Amino acid sequence: MAECAQTGARAGLLHTPHGVVETPVFMPVGTQGSVKGLSPRDLIEQLDLRLLLANTYHLYLRPGPEVIERLGGLHQFMGWPRAILTDSGGYQVFSLSGLRKVTQEGVLFRSHLNGDAHLFTPESTVDVQLVFGSDILMALDECLEYPASHEAARESLDRTLGWARAAFRHYRQRIQERENCGALFPIVQGSVYGDLRRRCAAELRELDADGYAIGGLSVGEPRALSLEMVEATAPLLPRDRPRYMMGVGLPEELPEYVAHGVDMMDCVLPSRNARNGCLFTSQGRLIIKQARYKDDPRPIDESCPCYACRNFSRAYLRHLFQAGEILYASLATLHNLRRYLEVMRQIRQSILAGEFPAYLNATRARALEELPAEL
Ligand SMILES: [Zn+2]
Repeated sequence: MAECAQTGARAGLLHTPHGVVETPVFMPVGTQGSVKGLSPRDLIEQLDLRLLLANTYHLYLRPGPEVIERLGGLHQFMGWPRAILTDSGGYQVFSLSGLRKVTQEGVLFRSHLNGDAHLFTPESTVDVQLVFGSDILMALDECLEYPASHEAARESLDRTLGWARAAFRHYRQRIQERENCGALFPIVQGSVYGDLRRRCAAELRELDADGYAIGGLSVGEPRALSLEMVEATAPLLPRDRPRYMMGVGLPEELPEYVAHGVDMMDCVLPSRNARNGCLFTSQGRLIIKQARYKDDPRPIDESCPCYACRNFSRAYLRHLFQAGEILYASLATLHNLRRYLEVMRQIRQSILAGEFPAYLNATRARALEELPAEL
């Protein structure tokens, strides 16, 4: 592992049952067992992606763990031979399911698809992720809305800590019976309160997990506050284990989190924004529907080697977007993910070369130059 002498940035290798992943790493989101618009062949041949994220809540409700187990596990089901991280389902239960009841045992909720009642417990969500065959599993946590009072955040945190301990007890029993199990990560919660975050990190450390996640941020709080919470948390987590910051971020934010000691990140932004017409380039954002691209022969990003940039003009992509063509979503997603992976590659290279502080400063200077009107 290489560490930056001036910041908390690290470059390392993450070993999983489905291959080695270079860190820091950005994970595209395959919510329903698919990165929208791209096939696994695209992800491997065009992007050389090593690790993606899939959502336990969605796959549990549909098609269900029984079907996935019968079809050979999630890797085989979705035709993806490389590593998969699954979340615990907690975040979606709290964001998608209108009706829910939280107890010490777990969370009772109604499916957003058909209203059926389901119970997620720390033990059941470990079992579901083991059935999927995930390379990295997440422990069930409670995701609080922002803002939350200190008292509410403390109560919720105590529940999350109890769930994490229960998840680990169960996981340690189950991995005795199975081969090649993935690693289980607990999640640091505590809303925007530094004291709660620090206590949570210290208590979760006792679990001696293979990695740790920081959750419950990027839920509407100011960005400076999310970074402050990472700053309060990351130094308390074991130095030799990966740290995963959940649900971030914009391209210019990625180096900021890495500077705070984060090794793994995921976000729907590159794929969702691509579909909505917002493309990330080395020169900033490009809104493809704008009239100025009507007959623009240039590629999305002249410095990008992706298939979309090598073969198609902004004018053509704008036409596909306006016409609602499926090909647009596919090309735009490919490009945006290529851009994110390129940012991560540059971050890693700069850490290994001992030049990360200069890279970070250059990113900050560029972010300031970008016009807010382009957002
Ligand atoms: Zn491109």
